[in-house]
Parts: sequence; C-alpha cells; structure tokens
Amino acid sequence: MSFSPDQTATLGEEVRVRGLVQGVGFRPAVWRLARDCGLSGDVCNDGKGVLIRIWGPASERDRFLIRLRDEPPPLARIDEVVRGYLCEDPPEGTFSISTSRSGEVHTGAVPDAATCPACLQEIFDPFNRRYRYPFTNCTHCGPRFSILEDIPYDRAHTSMNIFPLCKDCRAEYENPEDRRFHAQPVACHACGPKARLVRLDGHAVSADRYTQLDAVDAATNLLKRGEIVLIKGLGGFHLACDATNDHAVSALRLRKHRPHKPLALMARDLEIVRRYAHVSHAEENLLQSHQAPIVLLNRLNTDSLAFDIAPGMQRLGFMLPYTPLHHLLMRRMDRPIVLTSGNLSDAPQVVDDAAAVRALRGVTDWMLTHDRAIINRVDDSVIQMAGDDTMMLRRGRGYAPESLPLPEGFDASPDLLALGGELKNTFCLIKDGQAILSQHMGDLEQAAVWDDTVRNHALYARIFQHVPKAVVVDRHPEYLSRKWGVEISEKSDLPLISVQHHHAHIAAVMAEHRLPLDHPPIIALALDGMGLGDAGALWGCECLQVSYCEIRHLGGLRPSALPGGNLAMREPWRNALVQFADAFGWPVARQRFTNLSIMEYLGKKPVEQLLHMRDRNVCTPLCSSAGRLFDAVSAVCGLCMDRVSYEGQAAMLLEASVDLSVMGNASEPGYPFEIAESEKHFIQMDPRTLWSPLLDDLQGGIPVETIAARFHKGLAASLVQLIRRTLGATPWTTTVALSGGVFQNLTLLRATREALESLGLEVLVPHLIPANDGGLAFGQAVVAAAQIVTGQHHIAGGHEPCV
Ligand SMILES: [Zn+2]
Ligand SMILES: [Zn+2]
Repeated sequence: MSFSPDQTATLGEEVRVRGLVQGVGFRPAVWRLARDCGLSGDVCNDGKGVLIRIWGPASERDRFLIRLRDEPPPLARIDEVVRGYLCEDPPEGTFSISTSRSGEVHTGAVPDAATCPACLQEIFDPFNRRYRYPFTNCTHCGPRFSILEDIPYDRAHTSMNIFPLCKDCRAEYENPEDRRFHAQPVACHACGPKARLVRLDGHAVSADRYTQLDAVDAATNLLKRGEIVLIKGLGGFHLACDATNDHAVSALRLRKHRPHKPLALMARDLEIVRRYAHVSHAEENLLQSHQAPIVLLNRLNTDSLAFDIAPGMQRLGFMLPYTPLHHLLMRRMDRPIVLTSGNLSDAPQVVDDAAAVRALRGVTDWMLTHDRAIINRVDDSVIQMAGDDTMMLRRGRGYAPESLPLPEGFDASPDLLALGGELKNTFCLIKDGQAILSQHMGDLEQAAVWDDTVRNHALYARIFQHVPKAVVVDRHPEYLSRKWGVEISEKSDLPLISVQHHHAHIAAVMAEHRLPLDHPPIIALALDGMGLGDAGALWGCECLQVSYCEIRHLGGLRPSALPGGNLAMREPWRNALVQFADAFGWPVARQRFTNLSIMEYLGKKPVEQLLHMRDRNVCTPLCSSAGRLFDAVSAVCGLCMDRVSYEGQAAMLLEASVDLSVMGNASEPGYPFEIAESEKHFIQMDPRTLWSPLLDDLQGGIPVETIAARFHKGLAASLVQLIRRTLGATPWTTTVALSGGVFQNLTLLRATREALESLGLEVLVPHLIPANDGGLAFGQAVVAAAQIVTGQHHIAGGHEPCV
C-alpha cells in the first residue's frame, strides 16, 4: 500500500486484494468500511480474489485502506493489495456489494473455525433465539471445509443443503449489516440440524430421562456418571469420558485397543486447564485461537487426573471447546474430559453414524449425534511451543486447507501434485504459485486411510480446480504414496518426479521461511526414523548441503543394522542388541554387562540367530537412523524394551524422562560420539563410543533420568561438531536448517539450536509445516517446482495444445 494516488488526478481507484479473502465475510467488511468512510463504489469476488472500486477524496480512500488492513474480518488473510487509478465516473448511489462477476468460478476452501465470542454469547443467552442451539455459527466462525462438497462455496454445495433457511435466518443471511450475511451454514432451532442422544445397545432412550434440558445436557450427565460417550463433532467422531475417572479412562483404553498413546483432553476454559498444566501466554493464545488446536502443555504435579491419561509423559494435550455443541457439553463439567478420535487403534476417525455404530458399538453404549453430515474428515490439529515459536505436529482442523504462499522465484511453477510419504500422510497441490497442503490423513497401509486419501484427493482436485502438470513422489519404491503417484502419472500421461526424503524435509523448512528460489545452498540436519537416501542407503541422521534443486551428503550417523528389517522399527530391543554388538562384540557385552535388565531380557530372544543373519546380510539392512538410536537407548534404560504401541513411543519416553537440571548444568558431560572423517571428506558420527560410559552409569546405579539427559547432551554436542566440521566446505553460508520428526523432541532441539546460535549461525526450524513426514508433501512439491522452474525437468508432455 505504498502507492498513494495523486489527489488531483482522479477520485476513483481500483483495489485488488489477494489472499484468503473469499468465504470469510470480506465483502461485507469492505462494504461497512467504505460506507463509514463515505466512499461510493462497489466490491465483488472474482477468480483472483476481491476487487474493490472506490470513489471519494484521497484522504478517505487512504483511511479506508488502512482500516481494511488493520481491521480485516477475523478469518481473512491479506497477502497483497494493489491500487490503480480509475478514470470512469462513480456508479449511482452509495457503496454496494456486487454479485460475483459472471464466468468466473470461486476456487478454494476455508478451514473450519472455532465458535466466535458473539455466537458464544448468544448460545448462553436465554433470551436469544439461538439459546442452547448446538449448531450456531456466523461469518466469523463455524464449519467450512468439513461440510464442503463442491465449489463454489455456497449452501447448496455443503451438507447444509438439506436444511432450508427459515424466515429469520434468511433475513440475517441477506442483510449486509448482519454478522451472518452470506454465512453459508447459518441455522437455528427452527430450521437447522438437531442433536440427539442414541443408545447403541438397542435399548430405547429419551434424553429427558437424563436431563430436563436437551440431548447435549443429557450427554454431560452421562459423562459425569463415568460413562463413555461417542460424540459427533465437526470433522469426525470422538470418544469422550471423564478424565478424572480412572475406571472410565482405563475402560476406554482397553476397548479402543490403545494401551499407551497419550489421550487428548478438553476443558471448559483456561482456568480448568491451569489446574493440570502450565500455560504460557503464547500457549494461551494458541488454545484460544480460531484454529483451536490441541496444545501440548507441561504437566503440573497434580494427581487428580486418571492414572493413564498419558503414561510416562511430562506433557498433556489440551484443547478448549471449539463448537457450540462442545461449549454446551462442557458448560457444567468442572473437570476435563478425554476427547480422543472415534476409532479403533490406528484406524481413521469415523465420520458417519452407521460406520460409527459398526466400529464402536463395543466401546460405548451412548452416542451424541446430529443430522449434519461430515463430508470431509478433519482430525484435530496438534501443536507445541518450541521456545518462542509454534511447532506443528499434526496439521488438520483449523489449518487445512489454508493455502501457503511460496517464496520469491516460485511464481513460474506449473501446477503440481505431490503425494507425500507413507506415515502421517498428506498431499500437496501447487496452484497459481501457492501451496495447498492437505489435512493429516494417517498411515497409508491402513485400508481406510488409503480410501480416505484417494477420496480427499478427488475433492481437492475439484474444489481447487487442479489439473497437475507433473506428479511428485518420494524415492522409496515401496511407499504406497509412490505407487499411487506412478499410477496417476501413467494414467494421465504426466511426468513423475522423485524427490529424496530428507531433501523434502529440509526444502519444506526453507520454503516456510521464504528463502528465495535462488538462495545459495544452506547446511541442514535431517533427523528422523528413516528414508531412502543415495545409492539405496537408508538414512535417518544426516548432515546435508541443500538448495531447492539438489543436495550433497556431507556427513551423518554411522549406519547400524536393522535386524528383522521393519520389525526393528517396532521392537526397540533389536536396536539395543545391534548397538551392543557394534560397540563391544556380543560375547564381550554379554559378559561385561550381565547384570543389566536389558541383558536378561535379550537372553530370552533369538540373539545368536539375529546376529548370524546380520553377518550374512539377511533381512538386516543398514540404516543411519536417529530414531533407532533413541529406541536402543530407551530399551537399554528399561523404558520401552519390547514393542512400541505407537510410532515414536520409545523415543518420547526417553525424552520425557530427561532430568532437566542435568540438562541445564553446563559442567555435566554428555556421552561422546566419535567424529571421524572418512574417504571423500564424509564426516561420520560414531555412536559406538557412547555405550561404554552409558552402560557403566547404568551399572553404577546412576538414575535413568540422568542417563537420558547425558544422551541428549552428547547427541546435541556431536551434531554441532558435525556442523562445525562441514562448515569448512561451505564457507558462504551461516544458515542451518533442522528438520525431521526427531526434532519434535524439544530437549534435543533446544540444546542443538542454542549451541548453533552461540556459534553465530542462523537456525531455521519448522513452524507451520510438520517436521515429521506430515510435511514431506510440501517439501516434495517445492523441490519439484524448483527443478522445473530452473529447467532441470521439462514437463511439456502431451498436455499442451498443439500449435
Ligand atoms: Zn460466530
Ligand atoms: Zn433458522
């Protein structure tokens, strides 16, 4: 908005606004501001965003634009404002909202948003016509993406299409001065969806047996009585129970087949959250934002929550009510409830009543449901604060499918489709120089996740009118996402571009931090479970020189065997065994550390057979994974030896047990990794040297909490050493990017980051794009776009019209 037109030249201006400006109440906001400023003209939506024409004195036009920037509607995001002269005369009358320009189609979709304060006030006001109405919403809040079937975004294309507006709602919908002007899901008791309580065991029920109010209040009473209730929410079903009731929580875990994974909690308000967890100012803002994610908070030493809410963890995942139904449900709950995905084990959240009853009848006898269909499954988002910055762990409700602007240089990218990884799958579209990252869908090996992913892709293709010019996949030949990409590319005759796993992780961070396309290569650490690297090697703790177009492998962890292949991902003891064998030789280790409980445990396993397989290279691929090293240490410390029941469990337990006073004590040493330079200046971190002092500590009765801290310290220090050694080869850069799922470990991240910053380096860490494989698709899309724009791929294919 730097350009201020000459007052004498003209009284008219055309203003083009780009960003998230459609479907968020932008036009009525413009209308109100323009009238306030005494301007005439009009505003309309078109294919590029919003177009405003204003006539009036220059000072008022300036004031209008400043106010538009300062007071946009709550859900809008303004990326760009371009002003230009108009030589024509103003239209008759005052400022007006024009219907959309003919011929253009609105593309895109807005994420769902938590109930706004104005709607909240209405549902608790006995004199308001929406008193206790669980589906109250307005232009500034409510369901969007989860009810969207097609474009353009209007009521006919949502699951609200079966609810004709009553007279009162229609009047609000049509009045530009009303908060509900063009709010597509607007509804009330008279015309909208209704909640009802259902018994799943076949017995008849009427809610008034349990309350004098309504079905939602009856559900509150059931929760208070210790029952498990299945609740149909915004983007899926949840299972809920009283989080302070041991019996209810353990029954929920048992019936859901979810033995250990932490359960998410919902509390009525911040005051209740504060009884159980420490909430910083930033965390408070996140909890209360219109995205309303689950926020991981440091637990307080209160023992009033049920014993196994989050076994072994120092943190709790809390969210606040984000729909009127949740607000009404929680109103009389003066303690938190568990609110966990309505599914069995790792299956996706169910979204329709019939499937919910089929899948979960054995888990609960009660269902609080309603007659507004969930069209798109959107799981709750999960976020933590990493220092002063947010760090997204799962990107879903409230965030997806908001588009992300790409850095300078990417405008010329053709439209692309990137299909992500195998676990925590997401896909990403590049469209008109923006990236659209799908919501988290889950692990593709699950048939139901797979179906959901294919369906979501069809939806995204439709609502974003997306026709890709190339398909982008991970290099790993066994990833289902890759196989799907190959299929799409063959069927549609599109070029297929493969991107290395850790390159995608780092490129995602670079793009999120808006490094321009032609930025010189930076140094990066990519730490995760595993991904396919160069020459068929399995990587997972690598130091890389990275530009958008290519990577150079400068160093990494010395590879160890994965005995039993994929089984080593699930059974931590296998990694402990290999570390012993590598560090000492198995016979020596067995003799020297015979009294450790891990040795006793290994004594019952087919150890000789596994080592024999390793020596003969049978089903024991080498892998330089940081995740597996964490597993080994966690097993040796007795935290998780046998089998993980969810991804990352062993490593998370190890982090949770760290003694922070040891961590913060500069004179406490970490366990050493030897850093060696091999042929071609490749720098290797060798973990064999850490085991002797670690196991001596364990034998000497040093607490596991101290050992966990010394391991984290040693790892961070050696990663920093690795960076220092490689900086010699890249003297032009002072920027280091950190990514990969292992950096979700805040203890490791903080130690590494602080040491790097004290060397004067700038450290880039993911904020809005998950560091785990949920961010891969975005990184893949960015790498492929860079390679195409710089001419490394020619993708004209058979799709350009013949000239
Ligand atoms: Zn509202
Ligand atoms: Zn109505």
